[in-house]
Amino acid sequence: MTKEVETVLDTSKELRRGDRFSFSCVPQKECFTQCCYDLTLILMPYDIYRLKKALNMDSKSFLEQYTSVHVGPGTGVPVVTVKMEGAYLKCPFLEEGKGCKVYEDRPGACRTYPLARIAERNGETGEIDEYFYVVRESDCKGFKDGHEWTVQEWIDHEGLSDYIEMNDLFSELIQAKNRAGVGQLTADQIEIFYMGCYDLDSFRRYFLEGPNLDRYMEDPETIKRLEADDLELFKYGMTWVKKKLFEGGGSCFACGIGQGS
Ligand code: SF4
Ligand code: SF4
Repeated sequence: MTKEVETVLDTSKELRRGDRFSFSCVPQKECFTQCCYDLTLILMPYDIYRLKKALNMDSKSFLEQYTSVHVGPGTGVPVVTVKMEGAYLKCPFLEEGKGCKVYEDRPGACRTYPLARIAERNGETGEIDEYFYVVRESDCKGFKDGHEWTVQEWIDHEGLSDYIEMNDLFSELIQAKNRAGVGQLTADQIEIFYMGCYDLDSFRRYFLEGPNLDRYMEDPETIKRLEADDLELFKYGMTWVKKKLFEGGGSCFACGIGQGS
C-alpha cells in the first residue's frame, strides 16, 4: 500500500545558517509519525554507525535485518535503504502509538527535514560551501503555526552537527570517485565500498584482525588508535575505500597483493 505524497523542494530561496524558516513538529500534530510510513529512507554510513550501536547489534546483522542495498544510478556506488514493514510500509524503528524507538540515534534525514542541505568543497579555499532549501511534504502539518528557527538553531536542536561532519567525509569519497573518472564499480569494488563505508564490524575483522597488507602499511600508532576508537575506525574505513578504489593505492582485496605497483 503506498500513499500519495507530493514532495516539493522550494528552490526559490537559498538559506544560509543565519536565515530563518518556520516549522513545528510536535506529538500534538495530527500528522505525528505519519511521515514514518512508506518512505525511501537512505542510510548514510554514519546513520548505520549510530543505529547499530543504539540497537547493540553487529553491523552485518543490522544491515541484514533492517536494510536493502542497490547501486545508485547517479553515483554508481551501493546505496543502503531501510526496509519498510507490513502492508502500511512502516519504518521498523517506529513503535506505533509511541514514536521513534531510536530517536536519540535517528538517521540524519529524519533530523534534517524540513531542510535539504547542498554542500560542496571549494577547490580553491578547501572550505565547504553550503546552503539549504526548505522541503515540503504535502501531508506534513509542520508548517502550520510553525515555530521560527534559524538554520543553525535547527541544526543544534536536531543534533545534526556530527551527521553533517561525517556526511561531508562521505561526500569527499564520492567526489574522489568522480575526479578519478570511475563509473560503475565492479562486484569486487562494490564489496570493498560496502564493507569500508557501511559494515564497520566486518571491516574491523578484515582490517585489524585478518591477514592483509594494508594494515602493515600503516604506522603502529595509527593502528593502536583504530583499535581503541570505533569512530576513528569508522572514519578510517571511508579513507581506506578512497585510497583503495579511487586514488590508486592499497592492495588486492582477495589476496592482499599490491595493485598499485
Ligand atoms: S509535522 Fe511533518 S515531520 Fe512532523 S510528524 Fe507531522 S508529517 Fe512528520
Ligand atoms: S527512524 Fe524514527 S523518525 Fe525516522 S522514519 Fe523511522 S521511526 Fe520515523
